[in-house]
Amino acid sequence: MSHFTRRALPALGLGLAAPAIASAQSFPTRNISIVVPFAAGGPTDTVARLIAQGMTANLGQNVIVENVAGAGGSLGAQRTAQARPDGYSLLVHHIGMSTIPTLYRRLAYDPVNGFETIGLITEVPMTIVARRDFPANNLQELIEVVRRDRERINLANAGIGAASHLCGLLFQSALNVPLTTVPYRGTAPAMADLMGGRVDILCDQTTNTTQQIASNQIRAYAVTTRERVASLSDLPTAAEAGLPNFEVSVWHGLYAPRGTPAPVVERLSQALQAALREPSLVERFAALGTAPVAQARATPAAHREFWQADIARWRPVIQAAGQFAD
Ligand code: ASP
Repeated sequence: MSHFTRRALPALGLGLAAPAIASAQSFPTRNISIVVPFAAGGPTDTVARLIAQGMTANLGQNVIVENVAGAGGSLGAQRTAQARPDGYSLLVHHIGMSTIPTLYRRLAYDPVNGFETIGLITEVPMTIVARRDFPANNLQELIEVVRRDRERINLANAGIGAASHLCGLLFQSALNVPLTTVPYRGTAPAMADLMGGRVDILCDQTTNTTQQIASNQIRAYAVTTRERVASLSDLPTAAEAGLPNFEVSVWHGLYAPRGTPAPVVERLSQALQAALREPSLVERFAALGTAPVAQARATPAAHREFWQADIARWRPVIQAAGQFAD
């Protein structure tokens, strides 16, 4: 049964269901808001603003980004799960949608059933970076310094459940060294403090680190994908630099509140696909080390299937680590 049908059923008759069909056909008639659950200027924000431009052109209505940061991305997700399911309140989130259902055992919204999936957007490599004057010239030296000075070194992240938190956990467990972590409302403010030398190390998406690496404002040690990234071709993979099996990439997807009519979700998915085909977006993504997903993955069904499998993939990992947000 489609979500549209499920929503129309309580109306017990075509009289009330018909306006929903009409409104789906004329959708959208006003501005659409996309919640980004992290601070402005960071990697999730960058991805959301790029698709918002293309969706605005395709839908003929403004698609506006709103930052609702906090609690590792769960506050913004809650805002969307509890919004009216009419297609005007959307969410761009990342891999945290797969980890929050296990990490957070008490939430004011349903982190799995609270959403309609609209489509996947992109998968972004991460980079291990440090403040500009960090005393290590390569990943091996970074590892040595971290092992030696573990008491004094800290690791910035965007809160429990954020991609930077997961990558940081992997880093600590690969080295078997617990570090002090400094949580921010997104990795944009974390990056500002890294550039200011107020924190030491960060693991973050190339969408937030490429420019700073290229302009030598921070030090970069490795990219967390199996292959090198074309826009940062001098940067070794973690495996090349001595950390085997250290692979993380951060997928982003677009969501609506559960109960949003299926025709509206479908229209939004078409707009997303059109945005992802825009040459200017493809070019910008490439400059930031990423690419749009193939069109078949920017669909509600492919997104849901991938997300559900990813929740199942992360659940045992988080449970085994015993690290919960509460
Ligand atoms: N992507 C970042 C993270 O999860 C958060 C952000 O977009 O600011 O760490």
